[in-house]
Amino acid sequence: MDTRALRLVRRDRQQRKVRYLRDLASIPQLTPAERRSLEAVTAKYAFRANDYYLSLIDWTDPNDPIRQLIVPRTEELTEWGQLDPCNEAAVTVAQGVQHKYKHTVLLLCNEVCGAFCRYCFRKRLFMNDNDETSNDVSAGIRYIAGNPNVNNVLLTGGDPLLMSTRRLRSIIEQLRAIPHVRIIRIGSKMPAFDPFRITEDAELVDVLSRHSTPRKRIYMVAHFDHPRELTDEAVEALDVLIRAGVICTNQCPLIKGVNDDPATLAELFSELSYVGCPPYYLFQCRPTAGNEPYAVPIVRGWEIFRETMRRGSGLARRARYVMSHELGKVEITGVTSRHIHIRFHRAKDDALRGQLQKYKRDDAAYWLDDLEPVRGGGARRYPLSPRMEPAHD
Ligand code: SF4
Repeated sequence: MDTRALRLVRRDRQQRKVRYLRDLASIPQLTPAERRSLEAVTAKYAFRANDYYLSLIDWTDPNDPIRQLIVPRTEELTEWGQLDPCNEAAVTVAQGVQHKYKHTVLLLCNEVCGAFCRYCFRKRLFMNDNDETSNDVSAGIRYIAGNPNVNNVLLTGGDPLLMSTRRLRSIIEQLRAIPHVRIIRIGSKMPAFDPFRITEDAELVDVLSRHSTPRKRIYMVAHFDHPRELTDEAVEALDVLIRAGVICTNQCPLIKGVNDDPATLAELFSELSYVGCPPYYLFQCRPTAGNEPYAVPIVRGWEIFRETMRRGSGLARRARYVMSHELGKVEITGVTSRHIHIRFHRAKDDALRGQLQKYKRDDAAYWLDDLEPVRGGGARRYPLSPRMEPAHD
């Protein structure tokens, strides 16, 4: 064991472990009537939480943002959206391997998270008959090794930090054996859901510290949605990662009832900048089945984002407001009295990359597909039909 890693993880206290819950009956703060009314919701969209995260809820406030994030709502049963709204199936090149942009491959290496965000865009992974993730990453490793364009690998799922450290070590070592892989990103909400996963595991810190090198960094793409998630424990977890040489950054969706006001979002972004995990993307909530109660229309989202961007330092204002669309990362760059302006920040089709487009303003629209193009504004109605094939080679 690396002695430096041991120093990063404090040993002068009792080890802490969270207790996971999969049943609303384990939450005494919910009334029997509330639990009964939510049974149909959890039968459709899985529930999972843990005692640490639940302890952050103010149960005297029915609108508490942490509660909105984790406790199901009956409105999730409203027919809305699709289970795979971004057609990730179209960019899946092997089980658990997605390749959408030339230089980036996603390995979906785990199908569980430290808790389940109610607005999750991949909630289909938590359903019984899903086989989109793979515990065996050998096909993904072979694919990446055989494709020298890929310099950036994102471990995702589910949450990769729910894997054992032994498995994570093996995956990272295999990726580090491929010379053209420069960046390894770990997309994880564990710093928010269960920071002890990081602060109590010296072996994990050792793996990260060994393989986040000056020329080939490991990035932790954290997922904090609300400033109250930045507890002392969470900040300590980020500190351990940073001291281990991991670069931290944050991405989160704009969620109704959680962070859909400029004061909350600006506080979150500022706090994240103070602790060394500055914001990266703010996502428009995807039109995923069950997400209707959590989505904010594009125009309202833009107003919140614009006001947020008037507050805080430059580091707190590094986020881009984007739709993670089937076609690419569509940045919302402006809204006027008549138009919505977008830019393809990333695109799987080379021709779209960086393109500016203009759509008619529609205050009720939630997604690019809802928007009507402006004649001569460079835009067309999306999604394209038939569905586009992935642009990777
Ligand atoms: S952490 Fe990410 S993958 Fe897991 S439930 Fe939340 S949004 Fe979904």
